[in-house]
Amino acid sequence: MGPRIYSHDTPVQFYSEIKKRQEVSTKTERGRSRVLGIIRTPPPAWRRARVPRPSLAIRTVQSITPLTVRTFSASSTRSDSRQIKFTSDAYPNLKRDPKFAEISAEDVTYFKELLGSQSAVIDGVTTDAKDDIEPFNSDWMRKYRGHTRLVLKPKNAEEVSKVLKYCNDHKLAVVPQGGNTGLVGGSVPVFDEIVVNTSRMNQIHSFDAATGVLVADAGVILEAADQYLAERGYLFPLDLGAKGSCQIGGNVSTNAGGLRLLRYGSLHGSVLGLQAVLPDGTIVDALSTLRKNNTGYDLKQLFIGAEGTIGLVTAVSIQCPPRPKAVNVAYFGLESFDQVQKAFLAAKGQLSEILSAFELMDGGSQKMVIEATGNKHPLEGEYPFYCLVETSGSNAEHDMAKLESFLESVMSDGIVADGVLAQDETQFQALWRWREGITESLSHLGGTYKYDVSIPLSDLYLLVEDCKARLTEKGLVGDDESFPVRAVVGYGHMGDSNLHLNVAVRQYSKEVEKAIEPWVYEWIQKRHGSISAEHGLGVAKREFIGYSQNETMVKLMKQLKNLYDPNGIMNPYKYI
Ligand SMILES: Cc1cc2nc3c(=O)[nH]c(=O)nc-3n(C[C@H](O)[C@H](O)[C@H](O)COP(=O)(O)OP(=O)(O)OC[C@H]3O[C@@H](n4cnc5c(N)ncnc54)[C@H](O)[C@@H]3O)c2cc1C
Repeated sequence: MGPRIYSHDTPVQFYSEIKKRQEVSTKTERGRSRVLGIIRTPPPAWRRARVPRPSLAIRTVQSITPLTVRTFSASSTRSDSRQIKFTSDAYPNLKRDPKFAEISAEDVTYFKELLGSQSAVIDGVTTDAKDDIEPFNSDWMRKYRGHTRLVLKPKNAEEVSKVLKYCNDHKLAVVPQGGNTGLVGGSVPVFDEIVVNTSRMNQIHSFDAATGVLVADAGVILEAADQYLAERGYLFPLDLGAKGSCQIGGNVSTNAGGLRLLRYGSLHGSVLGLQAVLPDGTIVDALSTLRKNNTGYDLKQLFIGAEGTIGLVTAVSIQCPPRPKAVNVAYFGLESFDQVQKAFLAAKGQLSEILSAFELMDGGSQKMVIEATGNKHPLEGEYPFYCLVETSGSNAEHDMAKLESFLESVMSDGIVADGVLAQDETQFQALWRWREGITESLSHLGGTYKYDVSIPLSDLYLLVEDCKARLTEKGLVGDDESFPVRAVVGYGHMGDSNLHLNVAVRQYSKEVEKAIEPWVYEWIQKRHGSISAEHGLGVAKREFIGYSQNETMVKLMKQLKNLYDPNGIMNPYKYI
C-alpha cells in the first residue's frame, strides 16, 4: 500500500465534547478508560461519530499491534514440501496423458542454449536439482504438488514464443506460472509438465500520466506495480492479500477480484490490452492502450481468466485510477448476519461514491487470526460477525463527514454493536490485516478446504452455517486432535456477494473432502450461485464446472481450447 493522507483536522469542540462524555461514562463503568483494552492514554485527536449511546461508541484506534506478515514467495514457504502429497496420488483418477513426450537431455540442451543465462533454467533432468525445483512444484496452500524436472524462466515474449513453439512441436506439456499464489492448484504441474515461470519478465514499459494507462510485463509483482503508480499519484485497480508475491500476468490469467472490486470493477473492464503467446509460438499483440476499440471480437477477454490454458500472457496494459487522497477504514462488530446486510445497505446508500471496500469476517475467522498471530483483537467484546469498511476519496473533510454520519446512523439504529476507526497509516494497515491475514493464518494452522463462491447476498452466510452443521453431524468437527476439522469459517468480499467458505483441517483427508463435495456445489447450484467467484478452476474445481455452466457453455469453451491449443499442451489436467 502506498502513502495515504489522513484527515486529522476534525473540529475539536465537537469531539472533545463527546470524548468527555465517554470518558466519564466508561470510567464509571469500568474504573478506567474504555477506549480500547490496549489503549493506555486517550488519543490526541478524536475522530468519532456523534454517538447517542456511549457504550456503543466507535473509537479511534490508538495502538494496534500489526500482524506479522509473511512474505509470500514460492521459495520461502516450501521448506518442508516433502510432506505435501503428490496431486497424482491425491487425485488417482488423473492419469498422465501418454500423448505428451517425456523431457530428454536434448530438450534441456535446446532450452539452455536458447535462454542463455544459468538462472533461466533449473535443470532437474541432467542434474540433481530437486531442492531448487521443489518450490515450483508445490502450491501456496501446500495442497498440490507436481513432478516437474524442468523450470524455464524466459525474459521476453520472443523467448516465450521459442519455448512454446518447441514444446508444441515436441508435444511437451507446459504450466505457465507467475507468483504461484493461486488457490486452486492451477499454477503447479500435476505430472512432469515443464514450468514456464514469468518472474524474469518484470519490466514496466510505460505509464501515461494523462490517461493513467500502465503497460508492464506479466512478471511484475502486483505490489511493485502499485508502488510505481503510487509515486505518480495513481493506483493499481486491484489489491489482494498476496500482492507481495502475485504477478500481474497471474492476476489477469485468474481474473483476480480482490479487495476493491466493489469500487474499481473487474479486470475484464480495466485491462485495455495484452500481449500473449500461443502454443504454436504466435505472438498475439493486442497491447492496445485505447479505452475504446470496437474493431471486431474482443479477443483479449479470452485470456483474462483463462488460467494459462490457451496461451501465456507476457504483457498487460491497464487503466489505473488516480490514487485517492483520503482513505479511511472502520472495523465493526455486529450481532447477526441480518445486521451485516443492513450495514452494507446503509454503507452503499450513505457512502456511495467514496465506498471502496466492504469486507465480511465471521467470529471464527478472527479467532483463527488471533490463534495464528497471538495479536490482540481491536474490539473488546466478541461478536459473531465483523465488517471492515473502507472509504477512498479526494476530499478528506467531506469523506470524514460522510463516514461519521454513516457511523452515527448505523450505531443509533442498533445495526453496529461496536467499532474502531483507524487514525493513521499504521492503524489502517493493522485493521486491514484482520481481513487480509485470514488466508495466511489459516495456512499456518494446518490445511484448508477452500470454497470461493458467489451466492445471492441474503443466503451468503447460510452456506457456512449449513456446512458447519453437516460436518458436526458427521462427527468431524472438534477441538482436540482426534477430530479432522478444526473449524468452519466464512469471510469474503461482502460488497461483491463473494464468500470464502473455509474448512480448516488438521490435515487433508478424503473423509472430510467427501463430506463437503459435491454437497457444497449442489447447495450453490440450487441458489444459482457460482462455484468459483474469483479463484478460478485449476485442478480443484475442474470436474465441477457443470454446477455453474451449462452444457452449451462448456462445449463452446472446449472448442475454444482446441482452437487455440490443438495439442493440448497448455496447463493440461485443469480448467475444463
Ligand atoms: C493470501 C492470499 C490472498 C488472496 N486473495 C485473493 C483475492 O482477494 N482475490 C483473488 O482473486 N485471489 C486471491 N488470491 C489468489 C491468488 O493470489 C490470485 O489468484 C493471483 O491472481 C494469482 O497470481 P499469481 O501470479 O500468483 O499466479 P499463479 O498462482 O502463478 O498462477 C495462477 C494461474 O494463472 C496461470 N498463469 C500465471 N501466470 C500466467 C501468465 N503469465 N500467462 C498465462 N497464465 C498464467 C497459472 O498457470 C495458473 O493457472 C489470494 C491468494 C493468497 C495466497
